[in-house]
Amino acid sequence: MKFDSLIIGGGLAGLVCGIRLAQGGHKTVIVSRGQSALHFASGGLDLLNRLPDGSPVNDLPSALAELARQAPQHPYTLIGAASVIRLARDAESLFTQSPLAMHGSLDTPHHSLTPLGKWHRTWLSPRHACRTIGSSQRVTVVGICGFLDIEPASIVDSLQREGVSCRQAELTLPVLDQLRDNPSEFRSVNIARVLDNDAQHNALLHELHQLARHSDLLILPACLGLDNPRIIANLQASIGCAIACVPTLPPSVPGIALHQALARYFRTLGGTVLVGDKVQQAHPEPGGGYRVFTANHGDIPLRARHLVLASGSFFSQGLVATRSGIQEPLFGLEVQDPGPRSQWYQADFFQPQPWQQFGVLADAALRPRKDGAPVADMFVIGGVLGGFDPIHLGCGGGVSVVTALHAADQILAHQEAPL
Ligand SMILES: Cc1cc2nc3c(=O)[nH]c(=O)nc-3n(C[C@H](O)[C@H](O)[C@H](O)COP(=O)(O)OP(=O)(O)OC[C@H]3O[C@@H](n4cnc5c(N)ncnc54)[C@H](O)[C@@H]3O)c2cc1C
Repeated sequence: MKFDSLIIGGGLAGLVCGIRLAQGGHKTVIVSRGQSALHFASGGLDLLNRLPDGSPVNDLPSALAELARQAPQHPYTLIGAASVIRLARDAESLFTQSPLAMHGSLDTPHHSLTPLGKWHRTWLSPRHACRTIGSSQRVTVVGICGFLDIEPASIVDSLQREGVSCRQAELTLPVLDQLRDNPSEFRSVNIARVLDNDAQHNALLHELHQLARHSDLLILPACLGLDNPRIIANLQASIGCAIACVPTLPPSVPGIALHQALARYFRTLGGTVLVGDKVQQAHPEPGGGYRVFTANHGDIPLRARHLVLASGSFFSQGLVATRSGIQEPLFGLEVQDPGPRSQWYQADFFQPQPWQQFGVLADAALRPRKDGAPVADMFVIGGVLGGFDPIHLGCGGGVSVVTALHAADQILAHQEAPL
């Protein structure tokens, strides 16, 4: 099978890169082994919330200039501030105007409500995330009886401290009893499969009607809209009350819904996803491009002119730590020198952890190096890249999206003939 581009990893970075390439007319395949970080994340994407010295980011252009000074290996520094801003605006068009229907803009950063009732600054958030609460709004925070992956009382307490008129209530729905009997099964994704089902629509509507009687806004745990993206908008219209969702402990319904929407959009554009397959080896072809061998295709290679490595961080095994060092396991690409193991982490869990910055080294074009030389026809994007701490800086989603678009644009600019 021959492709213009083959992407290793179908998480946020791989899918966004694939969408851009498919939009540009490239015949693109994504090989993806399994779940991605999105299955565990909130579904919101942060661009850059803090600088390494801890100072908050208020003005993006000046923050990117300061980031270049404080973090020379950060992917944004490699790409350059002007390109980061241009690509972030491209991403906004992709996420807000496409079927992905996210909310947000560089010009108006907003905050979304966390499971602890705190406000988290973000760049793009799922359409039904809880973003603002009007001063005169009467809010009901709705828990689901027996569901332990969110604590409505904490949210109520936190909002009341801000002066919000807020009360707590519970959705009981007998149809959930079967799941409720087994606490390990009573998780957001399984609940969503029940609540999204048309057969339960009337029962759900009836309960929400009761809960909305003295409210202007219902805040629900994000256990809706996995397979039925329209369900929340439809429920809102029926009960005449706004509904917003708060992420729960993983697995994350909004994260999985975003993953599914990206994959669907990629396929709609003509892209191919080989789900549950794993790239095991890739060999350069004499005239350029690669022969790629996967677990499911055995000795039948996939051939591609360009390779994009989007295999994620340690979590997705795009990086592997041994007792003595860090490796990129597929190609043995150059990674940052992590120093002695005793300096990989800080004893205080809440401090920035040095290991978060470990990853593949790349140049301004996001080309990796091996044995001291740049690797031809290959780009590296997303969490497998080194030089940034996604948690401390609040930039994980942004780095994935911006680097994905940067690599795709360079591949499209090449316009070499397919094999
Ligand atoms: C719990 C959690 C919460 C987060 N919260 C936020 C947040 O609020 N805001 C934000 O901006 N960011 C957040 N992030 C970070 C953000 O989600 C990630 O930075 C981003 O999703 C990483 O995407 P990625 O595509 O680079 O990697 P991944 O999502 O890790 O995807 C890599 C994929 O590659 C596959 N793969 C690996 N090796 C192979 C191989 N050999 N062959 C085939 N496939 C392979 C893996 O199976 C995986 O599917 C969070 C992350 C986590 C884990």
